[in-house]
Amino acid sequence: MTGKRLLLLAGDGIGPEIAAELRRVVAWFVENRNLQVALEEDLVGGAAYDRHGTPLADSTLEKASGADAVLLGAVGGPKWDGVARHHRPEAGLLRLRKEMDLFANLRPAYCRPALQSSSSLKDDYIAGVDLMIVRELTGGVYFGEPRGVDRMPDGRRRGLDTQVYYDDEIERLLDVAFEIARSRRNKVTSVEKSNVMESGVLWRQVATEVGQRYPDVELDHMYSDNCAMQLVRAPTRFDVIATDNLFGDLLSDCAAMLTGSLGMLPSASLGARSEAGIRKALYEPVHGSAPDIAGKGVANPLAMILSFGMCLRYSLGLGAEAELLETAVDGLLSRGFRTADIAGPGDRAVSTSSMGDALIEELGDALERRE
Ligand code: NAD
Repeated sequence: MTGKRLLLLAGDGIGPEIAAELRRVVAWFVENRNLQVALEEDLVGGAAYDRHGTPLADSTLEKASGADAVLLGAVGGPKWDGVARHHRPEAGLLRLRKEMDLFANLRPAYCRPALQSSSSLKDDYIAGVDLMIVRELTGGVYFGEPRGVDRMPDGRRRGLDTQVYYDDEIERLLDVAFEIARSRRNKVTSVEKSNVMESGVLWRQVATEVGQRYPDVELDHMYSDNCAMQLVRAPTRFDVIATDNLFGDLLSDCAAMLTGSLGMLPSASLGARSEAGIRKALYEPVHGSAPDIAGKGVANPLAMILSFGMCLRYSLGLGAEAELLETAVDGLLSRGFRTADIAGPGDRAVSTSSMGDALIEELGDALERRE
């Protein structure tokens, strides 16, 4: 593998604390697995505002656009509540996602065996859940025009949003879903509401057309309300779920709760491929900057570290290394290591850095077992 450039933006709140553990993990792979990456760092969010007066400096955006992947901690916090909206920390993250045109959001829901009991579902339903939601992120009803609140001639106020999708927006999203399915169990469920929505009719047509290019991947179609029901009734039936922005927003939060805590949930946002064939990509935990626990050294670093696992798999093409990392995470959980957010009654909660120590140890053990 030729050297790849990663940009780490730790951000605010617990961001720098979990990023510190991530740095150790990256260093472990560099040292022990000959991972060839250069890890550059910069500021984003409130930290960038404090330094540059903007939550995303142009120079940072340039670095992000030139990197093979961006790893982000989290942004935001009460310190910046009084700042003008366009200078808030979250505006920096939104700009980064927009400028990189990250149109596909990937959220895995995987039931880690040691945390099965923290799921909101009974063990029988949750055991074996391993699915990926691929959500369209830059189109649909959150962006469609016309939109707004206006006053009608009869005096009533009207709130209006527009659900609109073009075939190429659907096509590129489905392409990502099929590619991901090929690295998993070769099944895509395309989710829409073509029984009542015209955009859903187009979605189903385009999904079927794209599916013909991937004859080795099974495609089925499901209405979104049925999908919500199946996620809590029979979640093991899914491999990859491909859906629009609104349905994906709801279904991914629903799927997240199948597997427990926010502190465990990684995500990826992918964009178009460059001429060199590399997709623009941002990897980040699903959670925010957790100001209530920032500075206490108790944050769970695993969502951030598992996001790096997704980066190994999807940006660096190193699925076996990602598996090694995931095995080590399962190993430390089965040895009983828990930060406070995933500790059950009777568990002793450990600090962020102890979790990092345990992971480094487990990585060594997992490697020895593999070799
Ligand atoms: P949050 O995700 O930061 O926290 C919600 C709860 O989960 C808190 O009790 C927190 O302590 C806990 N939690 C979150 N991550 C954890 C971890 N790794 N380990 C242990 N516990 C964890 O959401 P919030 O409180 O609604 O938002 C706080 C700030 O984060 C706000 O400024 C918000 O705008 C920002 N935010 C940023 C992002 C992002 O950077 N992508 C996402 C969501 C929220």
